[in-house]
Amino acid sequence: MQRLLKEITPRTEDYSQWYLDVINKADLMDYAPVRGFMVIKPYAYRVWELIQAYMDARFQETGHQNAYFPLLIPESLFKREAQHVEGFSPEVAWVTQGGSEELSERLAIRPTSETITGIMYAKWIQSYRDLPVLINQWCNVLRWEKATRPFVRPREFLWQEGHTVHRTEADAREETQRMLNIYVDTLRDVLAIPALSGEKSERERFAGAVETWALEALMGDGRALQAATSHFLGQNFARVFEIDFLDEDGERRLGWTTSWGASIRLIGALIMVHGDDRGLRLPPRVAPIQVVVVPIAAGPQREQVLDAARQAGAEIGEIGGLRVHVDDRQEYTPGWKFNDWEMRGVPVRVEIGPRDLAQGQVVLVRRDTGEKAVVPRNQLALRVRELLDDVQEGLYQQALSWRDSHTYTVSSVDEILAHDVRGFFKSGLCAESACEDRLQTATGATLRVLEAGEPEGACLVCGAPAVRRAVFARAY
Ligand SMILES: [Zn+2]
Repeated sequence: MQRLLKEITPRTEDYSQWYLDVINKADLMDYAPVRGFMVIKPYAYRVWELIQAYMDARFQETGHQNAYFPLLIPESLFKREAQHVEGFSPEVAWVTQGGSEELSERLAIRPTSETITGIMYAKWIQSYRDLPVLINQWCNVLRWEKATRPFVRPREFLWQEGHTVHRTEADAREETQRMLNIYVDTLRDVLAIPALSGEKSERERFAGAVETWALEALMGDGRALQAATSHFLGQNFARVFEIDFLDEDGERRLGWTTSWGASIRLIGALIMVHGDDRGLRLPPRVAPIQVVVVPIAAGPQREQVLDAARQAGAEIGEIGGLRVHVDDRQEYTPGWKFNDWEMRGVPVRVEIGPRDLAQGQVVLVRRDTGEKAVVPRNQLALRVRELLDDVQEGLYQQALSWRDSHTYTVSSVDEILAHDVRGFFKSGLCAESACEDRLQTATGATLRVLEAGEPEGACLVCGAPAVRRAVFARAY
């Protein structure tokens, strides 16, 4: 048990190494032969599937349908929207050869799909009756990043990207906010992560968007992670790809488009928001195994204890409807198993030994606090269910109090430095993007989101009257 614990570097010693250790010990991914690419292992993939299931249900209930667009985009098409191509060009990988044949036109491996959906939508949309188009796709994209990190910034990643077309500006703006709110709900209700949301500054905006809205979460080291984005694209892409329609009054009008996405980096957020020095701590709603039953089986009652553990597992799974695993491996000690499942972040552990058997009880241990409770055997399924709700809520409350205790209202750059640039820093800001640049140079922090509401006081960089309410942080 001690031996394994030592293999996770404490967070205070080296946070980056701790992150990699947790990923390794929880068996979440492995490095692929091409640098910057990762293999997502089954346990992490299951977490992704559970996140997907929730988000997909929300997309469907708000009228969206899934479809699939090709991986390759012709260069000429990709280059049509000037800002878009400028923003993405440094990260695009190209296919130049098919078999032994040199291609007459390079093909981009999609870094995102606004261009391919744009050209197809232009073909499909003729009249106002064809609107809105509400399509999402679950797929992979490729961005040739220089600095990579597992889950948070791999070169190829899994995500969903929604691409919609609307008849009016108001409809498209409403869609942008609707999807942003679904991401807020996903983080809060499923991942137990409190996030800040707001608009991005011009400097941080998605290439080709009129407005980018984002969710930012605070990691355990005080750095921010952008968790999802929702873009109001105005008519930029509609103009370039000629997405127009015949309106009810007989006029031809351009459509209004949006796009929105969230990726597997959410697993990176889960690790860094909830993980501790013992490993992962998974919120029950996305835990592949919500409950693990560990029999403490030795001596003459060994078989009886194993039977009791299997029965308990069946009851929790079948009657309780929960994702349960009975760890009846003979070759490991109970202590080793406790440690192993803690590293993997299983929210609740059930222990059953000979004495529990005799006394008609079981021991429940929650991963978030380590608290133990002895409960009557006949209340097992009910108590486990209650405890899972408590763990889900407990993790959210811990994350919320971490975020709130690391959110500061500041009026100077020095105050940010005084907090070692760890946390969210709220301040007034002038309209000049040069002030964002100067702040980044001085602190490494970037403008994460602009918050709604009247700005107060002065720009924290130049002292001019504030016109925006900004939230800064160092970000992944
Ligand atoms: Zn300024």
